[in-house]
Amino acid sequence: MKKHNFSAGPCILPQEVFQEASQAVLNFNNSGLSILEISHRSKAFVDVMEEARNLSLELLGLKGKGYQALFLQGGASLEFLMVAYNLLEKKAAYLNTGTWADKAIKEAQLFGEVDVVASSKDKNFNYIPKGYKIPKDADYFHCTSNNTIFGTQMKRFPATSVPLVCDMSSDIFSRQMDFSKFDLIYAGAQKNMGPAGTTLVIIKDDILGKVTRKIPSMLDYKQHIEKESMYNTPSVYPVYVSLLTLRWLKAQGGIAAIEKLNKKKAVLMYSEIDINPLFKGFTANEDRSIMNATFNLKNESLKDQFDKMWKEAGIIGLNGHRSVGGYRASMYNALPLESVQVLVDVMGDLERKA
Ligand SMILES: *Cc1c(COP(=O)(O)O)cnc(C)c1O
Repeated sequence: MKKHNFSAGPCILPQEVFQEASQAVLNFNNSGLSILEISHRSKAFVDVMEEARNLSLELLGLKGKGYQALFLQGGASLEFLMVAYNLLEKKAAYLNTGTWADKAIKEAQLFGEVDVVASSKDKNFNYIPKGYKIPKDADYFHCTSNNTIFGTQMKRFPATSVPLVCDMSSDIFSRQMDFSKFDLIYAGAQKNMGPAGTTLVIIKDDILGKVTRKIPSMLDYKQHIEKESMYNTPSVYPVYVSLLTLRWLKAQGGIAAIEKLNKKKAVLMYSEIDINPLFKGFTANEDRSIMNATFNLKNESLKDQFDKMWKEAGIIGLNGHRSVGGYRASMYNALPLESVQVLVDVMGDLERKA
């Protein structure tokens, strides 16, 4: 039986994508070759890379607006330092909304002054700070759109004259936004757009070339742009599976359509958390993530019973991150509404039985 997969990442992808991806391992586009054995310089793969780059920009509404899309390696974690390497000359402003933001800050501190404009550490990152000021002389402002571990999500982004950099690893392609407000966006693929092994980086050309330090080629966005995301051997298979996922998203009606479904799932999930007297949400209501819902049992003695019930219902990946405890339901694009319904039904059952 197919599981109801609430894992935080790597995570569920569309079933159709698994089918097509597995076919390509045996015989890629009827070429008589596996995608795993073709040259990354072959036309077949160059076409994959080009389509993946173009489709990313198209889905985000950034085509023809001076942006480049790259599929790099090293995860979002390498972007923590690449961003600073390429953009941080003197001072950068960062918003600390949790573990990943904190790691980005630590890397940036290796390259220059980091002004942490606000932090929600005082309440174990259960809210998004507001009303902070971004210094006008900062080289850029860095934020994390969705905090995967804590289950908070930025609903608004500050209006600022400095370049806006955002880690969108866990909510890229999940909701509509004016993406042209951002100068650099990065996302590890394994949360909402593909398998582990590649990172999408979207860069506005004109923010590069402003730092004086020398940048090693592999860490230099300009090099990767010049080489059309093929400076070295890219992660062929993860890029291909990401492309399949992006094609799937387009066929669903793009971000607008998937956002509607994501909101439905979130409403169903949070309504149960709010109505069911056995549970409480972890985050401030106005900052709730539509991707990762974090919640706890009010009475820990029901834990074994609840865990047994959701496991029996075919649910996996529901345990919260160790820094939060409790539960986390990750409801990425490919998770069907029915899976959320199954979880909500189990929570209702627990209420009746407890
Ligand atoms: C998972 C995650 C990361 C780390 O991604 P890696 O690809 O494992 O380096 C960074 N930021 C956010 C918001 C994440 O969810």
